[in-house]
Amino acid sequence: MQILEGIYQLLTPFPQFTFEDAKALRHQLEEHPRVTKGLPYVLPYMVKDGDDVLLVDCGWNTDGAFSALEEGMKEHGSHPGAITQLVITHVHPDHYGMAGRLKRMSDCDVVIHEKDTAVINDRYFAPKSLTDEMGRFMNLNGVPPIETPQMAQGSMPMIDKVAAVPPDTQVKGGETIKVGKFDFEIIWTPGHSPGHICLYEPNYKVLLTGDHILPTITPNVSIHAQTHGSPLGDYMRSLEKLIDLDVKYVLPAHEFDTKDLKKRIREIEEHHVVRLDEMYNCVDRGGSTAWDVAGRVKWATGMLADFEPFMQRAAVGETIAHLEYMFETGRLAKVRRGEQLFWLPV
Ligand SMILES: [Zn+2]
Ligand SMILES: [Zn+2]
Repeated sequence: MQILEGIYQLLTPFPQFTFEDAKALRHQLEEHPRVTKGLPYVLPYMVKDGDDVLLVDCGWNTDGAFSALEEGMKEHGSHPGAITQLVITHVHPDHYGMAGRLKRMSDCDVVIHEKDTAVINDRYFAPKSLTDEMGRFMNLNGVPPIETPQMAQGSMPMIDKVAAVPPDTQVKGGETIKVGKFDFEIIWTPGHSPGHICLYEPNYKVLLTGDHILPTITPNVSIHAQTHGSPLGDYMRSLEKLIDLDVKYVLPAHEFDTKDLKKRIREIEEHHVVRLDEMYNCVDRGGSTAWDVAGRVKWATGMLADFEPFMQRAAVGETIAHLEYMFETGRLAKVRRGEQLFWLPV
């Protein structure tokens, strides 16, 4: 789909969806936004001017996603072998999965933020130590032992759908990516991922938001064994970084494109304010583990006890991100008791 001359929205399906079904969902979602169980597709963007072909995000490394990408690029006069630059907003498998395959075909310049480059190694090249670390981390946060081995596995089954590749160019934010007449400024927006980046074209007022800003859902902002500090604090500050940008086209990596950046940012902030209060009310006076709190919170998709192990892990991680933010802002304290970490109101 053409956003404007030279900028195109493509679509690649998630492994459990066909291209046809994913395309149909793209239209349905725009008309009736609703909670879907899992995401059906990712939206890569192709920017093309002369011989310069930039692709922002790609999709899972499946044949279905690859042929969808090929078809989308062809429709707008290009093909995967012609890619000159591949920018990855963050290294989650749905955005980064096909990167190695595209690199081999096109010898493009792969561009990734330095903080996400560090994640690649732990996540895709040395996953064993990550699994051990995750087990210890879950234990610290009160996840009962019987659930731990399965939960610690987490995202491991995804690994065969990722063709990992190290970046050719590591960025920090502030750099400019030139594609013919377009100048995209890289904006570092940590939170959903430590090295998440957005791309802003000031002359055409285009903002590619990756998973940072989505039109109806909020990205998972979560702490796990690999993250440190306060990702929710980072996320909130990253939203503020974008609020005054002059933007006509908000182009996210899921759901559909929108127009009103400021309004959406305020909605997301409000969502987290409500969520923080809700979680605060789930913390016992005498202290609770993250697992206790996650078990009391009402999640959009039900209660923790009924979740698949992977979703339980995501929910616990998201809970910790909120608890950590309340620690950062002085609402909660944390204490270590034996092997576990407890949170309590100040
Ligand atoms: Zn993501
Ligand atoms: Zn995503």
